[in-house]
Amino acid sequence: MALFKALDNQEEENNPKQVDSEVEKVKCLIVGSGPAGFTAAIYAARANLNPVMYEGMEPGGQLTTTNDVENYPGYPEGITGPAMMEDFKKQAQRFGTDVRFGMATTADLSERPFKVTIDGKKLIEAESLIIATGATAKYLGIESEEKFKGQGVSACATCDGFFYKGKDVAVVGGGDTAAEEATYLAGLCDKVYLIIRKDHMRASKVMQDRVFKTKNIEILYEHTTKEIVGDMSGVTGVILTNGKGEEVKIDVHGFFLAIGHTPNSDIFKEYLDTDEVGYIKTEADSTITKVPGVFACGDVMDPHYRQAVTAAGTGCRAAMDAERFLGS
Ligand code: NDP
Repeated sequence: MALFKALDNQEEENNPKQVDSEVEKVKCLIVGSGPAGFTAAIYAARANLNPVMYEGMEPGGQLTTTNDVENYPGYPEGITGPAMMEDFKKQAQRFGTDVRFGMATTADLSERPFKVTIDGKKLIEAESLIIATGATAKYLGIESEEKFKGQGVSACATCDGFFYKGKDVAVVGGGDTAAEEATYLAGLCDKVYLIIRKDHMRASKVMQDRVFKTKNIEILYEHTTKEIVGDMSGVTGVILTNGKGEEVKIDVHGFFLAIGHTPNSDIFKEYLDTDEVGYIKTEADSTITKVPGVFACGDVMDPHYRQAVTAAGTGCRAAMDAERFLGS
């Protein structure tokens, strides 16, 4: 073993460029593989930008955790999130996108080419960079939530709902995600409590109607979560505080978070402008960021719409913006 190490060191000394073998130069690097990333890839590949895409921690993005997508044009019967993302990927690869597994762990955007490290090892030098890293589910931040993560606490009903078939569960949040997850879980579970901190829901009318029509969903308005309780088997209940400040306990085995998302912009923040939540700021009507040659698209830059179709639209814009930049 020691001999091999010594030989390795000697080879490195004789050939210092060896270290550079991990450096790869690309014209257009795309990080993130949701609807924004793949649409950017389709357009960039067709524009001969030879895009290289790193899929990130959640290949296919958030849609892979969605059950039915009924509002993406072109699928009159609806489609499951994972199947749709597989279609996106195939289309991007058909035009030559090099799709790779791996996550961008650091970024130096101080000068071109931009330096992006993948999985802490491989260094990519990119002439242009398209950031499509999306957003990640938020948690409440209470200690017991951390304790039971994966043992009853989840932020994805479509991923984990099956484990609670025939049991009682709770969903926290009053937006479209919460409404969707509660309705989905109601089809599997005996009873679903929907815990909402205000006296009304924020979800769209159509989603609210679905919740109201589902008999085994009980809405608890003006309730907040104090603590999640459980034992070795996982979650057994949740202690809530109601509008009068009283403690209420519900017996549930699953506790699902649906309280919004945090944009995945951390590694780029040093160089780019973001809002207070972390959404990357772009020039009006474009995906152009503060750094020429760096473009942002999808949920990482969109605090308002956050839909697959709007993300795809900004992905298209990002590739077109990158093409214009590289050609200018
Ligand atoms: P939203 O930000 O719309 O809603 C988050 C919900 O969580 C709000 O009700 C909020 O309460 C609540 N909340 C936030 N923090 C806490 C907390 N600490 N404790 C308790 N409750 C909390 O996020 P969504 O993920 O629901 O939706 C994001 C976007 O995606 C929206 O634009 C939505 O329309 C879209 N979407 C569309 C779908 C579809 O069309 N099929 C499906 C899912 C999402 P409060 O209201 O009090 O702020």
